[in-house]
Amino acid sequence: SIKRLETINELRQAINRNQLTLHFQPKIKLPDGEVCAVEALLRWEHPTKGMVPPNDFIPLAEQTGYIHSLTMWVLESAIQHCAKWNESGTSIPIAVNLSARNIQDENLPSRLQELLDQHSVNPHLITLEITETAIVMDPKRAMEVLNRLNKMCLQLSIDDFGTGYTSLSYLNDLPVDEIKIDRSFVMDMLNNKGNATIVHSIIELAHNMSHRVVAEGVENQEILDRLCELGCDVAQGYHISRPVSAGQLNNWLAERT
Ligand code: C2E
Ligand code: CA
Ligand code: CA
Repeated sequence: SIKRLETINELRQAINRNQLTLHFQPKIKLPDGEVCAVEALLRWEHPTKGMVPPNDFIPLAEQTGYIHSLTMWVLESAIQHCAKWNESGTSIPIAVNLSARNIQDENLPSRLQELLDQHSVNPHLITLEITETAIVMDPKRAMEVLNRLNKMCLQLSIDDFGTGYTSLSYLNDLPVDEIKIDRSFVMDMLNNKGNATIVHSIIELAHNMSHRVVAEGVENQEILDRLCELGCDVAQGYHISRPVSAGQLNNWLAERT
């Protein structure tokens, strides 16, 4: 449609016009609550539409191939933030979301290495969040790229776990460090017995495979308490903090210490 074409054209100019920005959402360690990382979430500050959420433009970028430029912008920006935090003495690991197309891209590892070298950032500080669906698209190629990223000492996380169609054998073969339980299970785990069982089972599965497990969509204290009881390693959600700008994150971190 015309509206779609218009959005695509505007999106192509968003980088040069400085309309993209990253927001950050803290992940805290359980049970002590120490901040162990932040997830970078992309925002588009559109001149007339205001803040456009990623679900409204990332699918478009994926369909048009523009996702490669967008992801490189996100990676560079995240690595720059990471370098700045290092300089100020608070190294915070940062997680970045990758699209399916990105992990089919054989040039991604070398371009990422260039960015890490350029900004002198330790690859251990960077986690790449990948959905199950992205892996299933072309498992062989994805596996090659992910193995190279793993050799570079980046951390890999399986996002939205439980909603895709990953066969568990992939989980066995992939160099995974972290599993994120999809928020749909976490958000009403106290009211829905089925979801509670899924959350519990994913925690066990992750631990049996020696992976760290993160619950996202933690919206209240009761859920946080229950996740502690279940031995979940990390929590993320509105109850802890909404995604915020870099400046707001600094204030939030300062208030907590
Ligand atoms: P995601 O990776 O699953 O990110 C988590 C989403 O859940 C974020 O939405 C976040 O704001 C929201 N969220 C966090 N805590 C809670 C909570 O307690 N309750 C509820 N209801 N929601 C919560 P956001 O920022 O709108 O991002 C949506 C999706 O867009 C992300 O889902 C991710 O798939 C995609 N995305 C965001 N940034 C990027 C990016 O830089 N690159 C790519 N490829 N995708 C991105
Ligand atoms: Ca994510
Ligand atoms: Ca997720």
